[in-house]
Amino acid sequence: MTSTAAIGAPEMVLIRYGELALKGKNRGSFEQALMRNIHAATRCVGEVRVERRRGRMAVFSERRVMDVARRLQDVFGIKSLSPAWGCAVDPEEIADLARRVLADALADFPPEGPITFRVSSSRAEKRFPLNSMELDRFIAERVLPDHERLEVHLDAPALSLGIDVRPERAYVFVRRLPGPGGLPVSTLGRGMCLLSGGIDSPVAAWLAMKRGCRVAYVSFHSPPYIGERSKKKVRDLVRVLARFQPTSRLFVAPFTEVQTTIRDRAPEPYRTVLYRRMMQRIATRLARREKCGALITGESLGQVASQTLENLTCIEAAADLPVLRPLVTFDKEEAIDLARKIGTFDISTRPEPDCCTVFMPGRPVIRGHLAACEEAEATLEVENLVKRAVRGTEKLEIESDV
Ligand code: ATP
Ligand code: MG
Repeated sequence: MTSTAAIGAPEMVLIRYGELALKGKNRGSFEQALMRNIHAATRCVGEVRVERRRGRMAVFSERRVMDVARRLQDVFGIKSLSPAWGCAVDPEEIADLARRVLADALADFPPEGPITFRVSSSRAEKRFPLNSMELDRFIAERVLPDHERLEVHLDAPALSLGIDVRPERAYVFVRRLPGPGGLPVSTLGRGMCLLSGGIDSPVAAWLAMKRGCRVAYVSFHSPPYIGERSKKKVRDLVRVLARFQPTSRLFVAPFTEVQTTIRDRAPEPYRTVLYRRMMQRIATRLARREKCGALITGESLGQVASQTLENLTCIEAAADLPVLRPLVTFDKEEAIDLARKIGTFDISTRPEPDCCTVFMPGRPVIRGHLAACEEAEATLEVENLVKRAVRGTEKLEIESDV
């Protein structure tokens, strides 16, 4: 990323948050959550100190500031961030540092042609001899002669040199790295994601986190038909997702008895829909225990036979919580693109079986009827099956791999 040879290491990362600023009365608690999440995400790098600025935050670290910046790129709620270099609160020193920070950032641009530019100062230190407009001009006059390609352009310049004058120190920054956007994890409650080893459900979990949900996971497994490697696959998926929510809880629920019972006693075309209804029931129980207010699935309308509107209706009727389906209107390609970006795609495409492939019906029902589901379930002792599955569920705490 940044070549820091001429300017040394940055001292701080300045972060900007978008939607947070719009949240009126809630703003304080959103900022608290963002600060907590920043601490959690950077714990693996070292201790950081977070200071609130107006509409921004400054994250300080004694060391490895660029590693801190990279971790912050995975913290939802952050719109963009800038590594910042520090110097004494003195106009000439600021100008000297600005020249070097600018030279470093110009390496990102093609070697020729004009580059629009401006200086934007802010001044928390009112005893500083120049006001912010004067400081803008002072700095511009000193850096422009060194860089002929820079053309001052106050509206939407390609390069904006930021200067933040604090009582104890002044900071200079140019590069803006993208954050993931969204809202801080935990600010919009909790959700229980039904996580298969497929492509879609990890993406659904990520999208729910992006909108501020704290996500726990439940995955259904049917030993001996499904082996340990499928379970490891799901653990690996959660570990990647934990980059965005540093500690995550995964429940592994036994599903063999449910599946064999449905296979033996229910009409074959309804098997998949009935498996899914049982998943919703068990997931609802676990969700309530974990204080989750919703279930999250990777379902997308029309993607496979079990995801017609009629079948989704039958499935959802068994859930006793709202069901969020972040991918409901996604094309498969869109889900794949996001899975690649998040880093789950290569794990999801490992060829391990999923419990839904066990005892698959030859001709699954496409437009299921709720009455038929309920009739089939009347003989299954649903409550006992649910209770035993919940009792046999294993709980794992999974930490991020970074
Ligand atoms: P995915 O790629 O997430 O597996 P999919 O497009 O393959 O989704 P299905 O396999 O029909 O669709 O599953 C629909 C949803 O049901 C999944 O996205 C997931 O939320 C849930 N689900 C399916 N199988 C399991 C399982 N074994 N454990 C937990 N949840 C599951
Ligand atoms: Mg699947």
